[in-house]
Amino acid sequence: MTNLPKTITVCRIPYKVGIPEEGYSYEVLPDRQEINVTDQAAPARKRQYFMWEITHLLLEAAGMTEKNTERYYRCVGSVLNRFVIDNNLDWVKGDKPLPNSLWINGIPYTIEYGDFEELKKDNLGGQVIYDLARIRVKQTMERDILLYVIIHECAHAMLFEAVAGGYESKEPFVEALAWQILYFLQDNDLTKIKPDKEN
Ligand SMILES: [Zn+2]
Repeated sequence: MTNLPKTITVCRIPYKVGIPEEGYSYEVLPDRQEINVTDQAAPARKRQYFMWEITHLLLEAAGMTEKNTERYYRCVGSVLNRFVIDNNLDWVKGDKPLPNSLWINGIPYTIEYGDFEELKKDNLGGQVIYDLARIRVKQTMERDILLYVIIHECAHAMLFEAVAGGYESKEPFVEALAWQILYFLQDNDLTKIKPDKEN
């Protein structure tokens, strides 16, 4: 990637990607459906600014307060940036095999599929165990909901790894954020923003 894509879909809304006003390196202008990033930065830095502003929109859409969004969008955005870069996410769209591990903030989380007692007991579709870097998913679910549950557990883990004010344990927030992350991954071709020989 040397240039960012010309458009990006966030929360089901297409944003134009352009250049910010003088004095700003990055900005999001929701009223104008614009995400703007300076072209005077290294490709990897542009990508990170871009993912920060995308995350700004995702966190707001999931119901984070304005104050906390301002506080956390860069930490969570950096983790989401790495999630997109470090993983092959083809499985989110097509019928490719589901992943057995995913990198989250440089930590390899194992994804286990099974009929786990702990999940049955609490009637859960999935579970994340931070200490063990492990995500457990109830295997008997249909594929579309299985995708959501994997991303839901990843959303817990991304918030945990970003040290985002305890939001990883606010279940309604994680629920809402996970849908927005899933839509974001499904609605865009993010292979285009991955590093090639830029670094
Ligand atoms: Zn949850």
